[in-house]
Amino acid sequence: DAIATLKNVYYLYPKSTAPVLKDISLEIYRGEFLGIIGPTGAGKSTLCLTLNGIVPQFYGGRFFGHISIAGKDTLSHPISDLARHVAAVFEDPEVQLTATSVENEIAFALENLKVPAPEIRARIPRVLAAVRLEGTEDKHPQDLSGGQKQRLAIASALALQPDLLILDEPTSQLDPVGAEEVFATVKHLNQTLGVTVVMVSHAAEEMATYADRLALLSDGQLQVTGAPSEIYGQF
Ligand code: ADP
Ligand code: ADP
Repeated sequence: DAIATLKNVYYLYPKSTAPVLKDISLEIYRGEFLGIIGPTGAGKSTLCLTLNGIVPQFYGGRFFGHISIAGKDTLSHPISDLARHVAAVFEDPEVQLTATSVENEIAFALENLKVPAPEIRARIPRVLAAVRLEGTEDKHPQDLSGGQKQRLAIASALALQPDLLILDEPTSQLDPVGAEEVFATVKHLNQTLGVTVVMVSHAAEEMATYADRLALLSDGQLQVTGAPSEIYGQF
């Protein structure tokens, strides 16, 4: 059962002459932990941005092929509509956190989506427990450790109850302890709560340990997908 499907996707950024995604076909299955690996410049971030419609709707450029998420074509549905299905966490924990308390951080996006206040109050403790940040409601996000900041960003994404959680290099700015916390949290969400995860990372060993399936991208092309043991066995 696929939650997202890409079919023969090609993409060129505006003013670019070479495609950064070339003939990508990929299904993302409900409940899986899909890891996307590959060298810098391979197109991993761009691939993530196709899933929430930012590419091509926000960037423009030239796009060929089809992508659907939860049955919706990402070319013809507004980004705000797709945002209910896909939530993303990025590399830099700082830039994602804007509120003055942990609680307000989680509430912020929900208020924008006009989620009723009692429902927001009910979701906050649930998502904080899911990322093991219970008891931090009143803390200032800037007073959290790097790993805790990323887990707060994950909690905020989770509060949106997305079909798909995308994490683009969420551990690259963290120390080893923080990185391990984030990997363990993501695995917990995936295994225990059944959250579908797409994660981009250069941390080869952790990706091999935690992902169910890896997709290797290089030079805009999907080279191979398979179990971590199969993928790493090829090098
Ligand atoms: P990765 O995440 O694998 O490092 P990216 O998706 O960030 O790869 O980038 C793929 C290619 O697209 C790179 O050559 C990068 O310079 C280029 N690129 C990324 N964003 C833009 C943009 N906004 N405009 C033009 N080119 C871009
Ligand atoms: P990542 O670390 O995920 O590969 P980058 O550091 O390549 O991301 O890019 C950071 C930001 O700069 C992204 O928003 C990306 O779209 C933009 N960017 C990257 N390459 C280019 C480019 N050649 N032209 C314009 N914007 C770019």
